[in-house]
Amino acid sequence: MAEIISGRDIAQKIIETDLIPRVEKLKSREIFPKLVVILVGDHPASASYVRQKEKFAAKAGILAETWRFPDTITEDEILAEIEKINNDDTIHGVIVQLPLPKGISVEKILAKIDPQKDVDGFTAENIGKLFLGEPCLQCCTPKGIIRMIEESGETLEGKNVTVIGRSNIVGKPVSALALNKNATVTTCHSRTKNLAEHLKNADIVIVAVGRPEMIKGADLPKGCVVIDVGIHRKEDKSREKGWRLCGDVDFESAKDVVAKISPVPGGVGPMTVVSLIENTIEAAEK
Ligand code: NAD
Repeated sequence: MAEIISGRDIAQKIIETDLIPRVEKLKSREIFPKLVVILVGDHPASASYVRQKEKFAAKAGILAETWRFPDTITEDEILAEIEKINNDDTIHGVIVQLPLPKGISVEKILAKIDPQKDVDGFTAENIGKLFLGEPCLQCCTPKGIIRMIEESGETLEGKNVTVIGRSNIVGKPVSALALNKNATVTTCHSRTKNLAEHLKNADIVIVAVGRPEMIKGADLPKGCVVIDVGIHRKEDKSREKGWRLCGDVDFESAKDVVAKISPVPGGVGPMTVVSLIENTIEAAEK
């Protein structure tokens, strides 16, 4: 049975040993780190992510406000709210919870955020710096993935890392971060031919395909380390609520093949949120 890389436990440790002392230091200088989450509409998954962010912020002792708007809000009105935040010195970080209602340009909204307050790390400036290996607010999921690999005792230097998925928020930036750590990186995607070939020699496999339990134990090389980024609700009539959460990896078949694996839930999810809180603290420190 593989060792479980518990994002939940690592995140808790980061909060206790790193974030709380940094927040205390800021508070002693009369700086109170504050995050604003812009939430448009009533997407049920978004509401649950936002609750998670508020919970982690409270644990670390930072302020977190959720600004809720109906899905009838216009693009210009959201841009005006971001302008307000950009000009407010008491707010150190802002994120716009995605997805946004149809007709609102995510690109335009993100471009409006002051890169110094872009704690999701989604602006072109922060993504560009991430690829250049320069200090920046790094996007949260990739940052959390690298941190959990290292906290589990693995180094990236010299390792073969196969990333499955090339989205702008996970696959591409996590590939760049691993490359900056001197890993040899292969990034696979929906047009990749012969995925199996690219998995064969992997030491570390990062799966962000967005397809429930697509990667099976038989697809993975024996003894590798697996980070499962996916999160899905899968029908499960044996459970009272009728569903269970699962990842992009079929945990049951993978756990006896690989050396280490991150679970879903309790893996990448908490690492993403803790990275967001850390970015807000970092923005306040600057
Ligand atoms: P996405 O849909 O934007 O990207 C999926 C990627 O997978 C694409 O690049 C696509 O080319 C690739 N892909 C699809 N089918 C493939 C196939 N058969 N073979 C190889 N590659 C294939 O998804 P995303 O935003 O990167 O998210 C991926 C998953 O991670 C989703 O389940 C999402 O919910 C989850 N996620 C979790 C967190 C978290 O904090 N836990 C954060 C972000 C995303």
